[in-house]
Amino acid sequence: MLKIYNTLSRKKEVFKPRKGKKVELFVCGPTVYDLSHIGHARTYIAFDLMAKYLKEKGYDVFYLQNITDIDDKIIQRAKDLPAGGQGKTTPAKLARFYEKEYLKDMKTLKVNSVTKYARATDHIKEIISQIERLKKKGYAYQINDGIYYDIKKFKDYGKLSRRTAIQAEDGVSRIDESKEKKNKGDFCLWKISKPGEPKWPSPFGQGRPGWHIEDTAIAEKFFGPQYDAHGGGRDLIFPHHEAELAQMEAMSGKSPMVKYWLHTGFLTVNGQKMAKSLGNFITIQDFVKQNSPRTLRFLMVKNHYRSPIDYSENSLTQTKKELQRIDEFISKLKSLKNKKRVKKVNLFSISAYASAFEETVEDDFNTPKAIAVIFELINKTNSLISQNLPTKKEAKNILDFLKKIDKIFDFIFWPIAKIKPPQNVLRLAEHRQKYRKKKEWQKADETREEIQKQGWLVEDTKEGPKLKHL
Ligand code: AMP
Repeated sequence: MLKIYNTLSRKKEVFKPRKGKKVELFVCGPTVYDLSHIGHARTYIAFDLMAKYLKEKGYDVFYLQNITDIDDKIIQRAKDLPAGGQGKTTPAKLARFYEKEYLKDMKTLKVNSVTKYARATDHIKEIISQIERLKKKGYAYQINDGIYYDIKKFKDYGKLSRRTAIQAEDGVSRIDESKEKKNKGDFCLWKISKPGEPKWPSPFGQGRPGWHIEDTAIAEKFFGPQYDAHGGGRDLIFPHHEAELAQMEAMSGKSPMVKYWLHTGFLTVNGQKMAKSLGNFITIQDFVKQNSPRTLRFLMVKNHYRSPIDYSENSLTQTKKELQRIDEFISKLKSLKNKKRVKKVNLFSISAYASAFEETVEDDFNTPKAIAVIFELINKTNSLISQNLPTKKEAKNILDFLKKIDKIFDFIFWPIAKIKPPQNVLRLAEHRQKYRKKKEWQKADETREEIQKQGWLVEDTKEGPKLKHL
């Protein structure tokens, strides 16, 4: 029985979707004005794992993600960019470019469980309809620069985040300041565009949508006013998700808009959130150039989705070492020759590991504990292999178990990228061979570690050592 932590109740709750085996999940997508960084990867890998788990459990998951392709940051970035060969870019061109890069990055990381990506600019009609309904019900008012939501009118404002004002942790305020607002926390639903800015016609004047309304408009179109789960990074709890809840529940009069609110912990650097604005980010593309996408995926999967991950060279090295142990284990399993066991002993039952694994995942996706179960299995099997005990058949059972897990975790069996090792790595591999020939094992091991620090794994095969990119 899956239990999942609900930000709304601050408790772990049994996961029971509203429509039996159908799950409707909405996760806030990116604002496409720049390349995604590994903090974004942290959140999207976490939800990819959850969606894959639910699918494996037989749920019919509709995973919807919006793409914010119109926003102040996009407009500003397009203005700031120097004119290229074809003249200045436009916010629309810029957004399309970064949307493509985002989707490419997700594919590289095997984030492939999203059913539908929906752009804000493809849903202007739905957005206008929601604002009109909010106006009609008295929740929205018009001032000079746009339409705003009156938070004082919604008595439950603050019920998700348990607050009504901005705090340091909120990534971006996106509340929009205007002297004419009724209350300080009122947020913009429709922004009247300034000359030269992108604009869409509406009954309130030519303008563009505010940030929070695009999600409720898209979610309502595909799911209706109520659905199962809504997720994002924890910086989105306030004001973004609080605002969404206020919009949708005020509009529909139905509560709860969402049964389970799910939030991921931050990827941090020296304890500080990785963010574009702080300049402490590594893009997914840069990470993948230096390391493998598999390393990134595993780094995220081995941490609990709600915990922060402090990114450092040490955590990266440790992650690579663990992947190396898994790879070595798999290659040992594959090369086992035993048809029959010589000694008659009761080894262990793979089903015990399978149940322990499932139990940990069902406990609010406790992936660190699930990974610990995998390493327990590796340790136990390795000690049996050193006594030449497991048979080919048992090895196959273990491999099958790992393959099953990988349908959800997706980091174990990763196609080896055909990248040529750089000269310094080739040289280190030669040195290692020389040490091995001279039986200088310690030096050989140290050199192996040096190779690994460069992101490469040495596998000793019958044909000699082979280099694999981690
Ligand atoms: P944005 O494009 O900034 O709206 O972010 C898209 C998603 O990535 C949101 O769910 C954010 O909460 C999440 N996100 C951004 N930075 C981080 C980070 N450092 N750690 C975890 N999630 C993040």
